[in-house]
Amino acid sequence: MNYDLIIVGGGPAGAAAAVYAGRKQLKTLLITDNFGGQSLVSNGIENWIGTLSITGYDLARALENHVRAQEMVELSPAERVSGIQKTAEGFIVSTDQAHQYQGRAVLVTSGGRRRRLGVSGENEFDGRGVVFCSTCDAPFFRNKVVAVVGAGNAGLEAVVDLFPYATKIYLLNRRAELKGDPLTQGLVEKSEKVTIIHQVVVTEILGNQVVKSVKYKHQDTDQIEELPVDGVFIEIGSIPNSEFLQGVVELNELGEVIIDHKTCETSVPGLFAAGDVTDEMYKQNNIAVGDAIKGTLSAYNYLLKQPG
Ligand SMILES: Cc1cc2nc3c(=O)[nH]c(=O)nc-3n(C[C@H](O)[C@H](O)[C@H](O)COP(=O)(O)OP(=O)(O)OC[C@H]3O[C@@H](n4cnc5c(N)ncnc54)[C@H](O)[C@@H]3O)c2cc1C
Repeated sequence: MNYDLIIVGGGPAGAAAAVYAGRKQLKTLLITDNFGGQSLVSNGIENWIGTLSITGYDLARALENHVRAQEMVELSPAERVSGIQKTAEGFIVSTDQAHQYQGRAVLVTSGGRRRRLGVSGENEFDGRGVVFCSTCDAPFFRNKVVAVVGAGNAGLEAVVDLFPYATKIYLLNRRAELKGDPLTQGLVEKSEKVTIIHQVVVTEILGNQVVKSVKYKHQDTDQIEELPVDGVFIEIGSIPNSEFLQGVVELNELGEVIIDHKTCETSVPGLFAAGDVTDEMYKQNNIAVGDAIKGTLSAYNYLLKQPG
């Protein structure tokens, strides 16, 4: 076997795993196509514990430096894992660069990506009024008027996150009724700050340097309306980067890797997973890091019990 541990992904979870694996003297390979993960695009992360504020870019550089300081960790920073195969000795990890690596254990931290509306203005104003993480960015919308798109649990929670900050919140709902847990739904419905607009789909996000308005279409009449807003929170779910794990480990109906939350073990012995790619309820940097450390220590204990 070439490596004791192969880590898939270079987000906060993968970086944390690499640092802990290095310090445990595991011969480690980290394979990723980008460093820093999803919050790389963020202008200000204000809940990275021990740091008042850091940009996604600076966080990514700090994580990468910490990984590169580990003598036992090799980096493959420009390829994507395309498949994982269990063998008698461990695993063969294949990549889109037609490489194959052998590892005694694997920790998957390939994270996720936010589901997008696919409308004009969404990419252009990403980070300039278009928001994909309300827990992260609600405090930036103090005294602002915002629209939240999506009325499932994530959308409802975004509205609640915005209560202390926004002066007015429009909740744009595709369906005729809300679809979230009754408690959060009750909070949203009774708030005087909130106007719920049912059965509409967003057609365009407009602005200049920053978001100025959002256009939506009534599904029953096709009538288009424009709402002046300072921010558009898009909360229509996230997609785990788990395509290469189909048929390899047990996934839930959302495609998230099902793990034992004490150990980060998956349904396959020797294959661990942590962070946003898993069925962890809260998708946050600090949580991804903590879980990845758990997964690395579990992998270490697993390896101690394996021959060779
Ligand atoms: C815009 C935005 C802002 C955010 N702001 C905050 C914040 O302020 N505070 C906070 O706590 N959380 C924030 N989050 C959430 C936070 O970014 C995630 O919870 C965190 O990044 C999860 O870390 P992860 O390492 O599990 O996954 P990711 O960050 O998704 O990293 C996954 C890594 O795996 C790589 N990868 C994916 N597929 C493959 C593959 N097949 N092969 C190899 N590599 C692969 C990716 O390129 C990436 O490097 C934000 C999210 C977004 C979208």
